[in-house]
Amino acid sequence: MASLVWLGHQVATLEKPRIGPWDAETQKIPVVLVDAGHGGHDGGAVSNGGIEKHLTLAIAKQLRDELIAAGLRVVMTRDTDTFLPLEERAALTKKHGAEAFVSVHINTDGSGSSANGIETYFAGKPSLSTLRKTGQKGENGTTSEKLAATVQRCVCQETRADNRGIKERDYVVIEEAASPAVLVECGFLTNPEEATRLKDEKHQEKIARGIAAGVKLFLQAKPAVAAVLAEK
Ligand SMILES: [Zn+2]
Repeated sequence: MASLVWLGHQVATLEKPRIGPWDAETQKIPVVLVDAGHGGHDGGAVSNGGIEKHLTLAIAKQLRDELIAAGLRVVMTRDTDTFLPLEERAALTKKHGAEAFVSVHINTDGSGSSANGIETYFAGKPSLSTLRKTGQKGENGTTSEKLAATVQRCVCQETRADNRGIKERDYVVIEEAASPAVLVECGFLTNPEEATRLKDEKHQEKIARGIAAGVKLFLQAKPAVAAVLAEK
């Protein structure tokens, strides 16, 4: 079955959206890299009957569908329950010439904590060794902050979740990305009510729709991409 699974993966990642007027001009459809946090032996957070790696994959797949429907190309770091090192996830941005990178995660706090809501992380100025390793030009900090702000606003509007704001932290998966990159903590698995929502497909859809709206708004700042999205 391995080859069938592989084929399915290729179709999903290489599927081209409807041809639009931007093609003639740029010959390039923007690529968004979508990362479902954790996977395989790394389950991530486990609380209130939920396992982070499954929830992130469910949300990431819906995010992929939303972005493809908007006319963008999407590459996923994983679309099955497999493990990938953080550096390899980040490196895919360079390999695919991504214009944006979104890593999907679920938050935790101490047991019995009532913490809830959504927060979005971006990496600040990368270190020199990261710049050398990734070939970044060092502008990602500023653009990633813009992407984080837009995604955070849209995802909170769509889900009506508590807005915990954007935060700067040098998580490897976003710091080493060669494109603007954010990590969205979509809610707290340690909060029983929020855990119930996170496991609900309708709520996952709202999260995906909100993140996608933010990514689209961010990319609209680029004229070639604005043409793609204006079509929809
Ligand atoms: Zn996580």
